[in-house]
Amino acid sequence: MKWISHKAITGAIIWGLTTNPILTVASVIGSTFPDWIETPPWAYSNKYQYLNHHRKGSHWFVPYLVAAVFVSLFVIGTGAYHNIILHYFNEDNVIYSILHYLHFYNVKYFIINNGTLVGLFFLIGCLFHIIEDGITGKIPGLHIRDKIGVRLFKVGSIQEYMAVVVVLLSVYLCMKV
Ligand SMILES: [Zn+2]
Repeated sequence: MKWISHKAITGAIIWGLTTNPILTVASVIGSTFPDWIETPPWAYSNKYQYLNHHRKGSHWFVPYLVAAVFVSLFVIGTGAYHNIILHYFNEDNVIYSILHYLHFYNVKYFIINNGTLVGLFFLIGCLFHIIEDGITGKIPGLHIRDKIGVRLFKVGSIQEYMAVVVVLLSVYLCMKV
């Protein structure tokens, strides 16, 4: 899947679920991360060697999932899920919510709680990337050497962009209801 498709699908779904711009941006950044940390294509001498190394360890869902579970436990443990960004952001504006929290809570608390929530959505974005790659080819399975995934359509094909449009429309319609 092209980066633009990863960003559009992930961003639309997270926006639909949270209507929160910061968490949406965090997930969009995460949605291309597994490709960034991959050795760049030009580091390989030929296309075959590149394809052979593409979507390996960087696209193994296990580390992202384990990290997301730990961060979630932290978010639940500290109560960050109901206190900051999600709760106040939508009713008020950014400036208000920052001032509100600087006033009522100490800065460390503000940074830790919001930071973990943003980190969680970054990891969710990484997991979305891997799932999205899993419908356009093979990705590592539970064991890093396993190969799972189906190829519903070719990367960069008209079908891929149609899938993006379908997701965007679905999110839009769900949000209207
Ligand atoms: Zn990828």
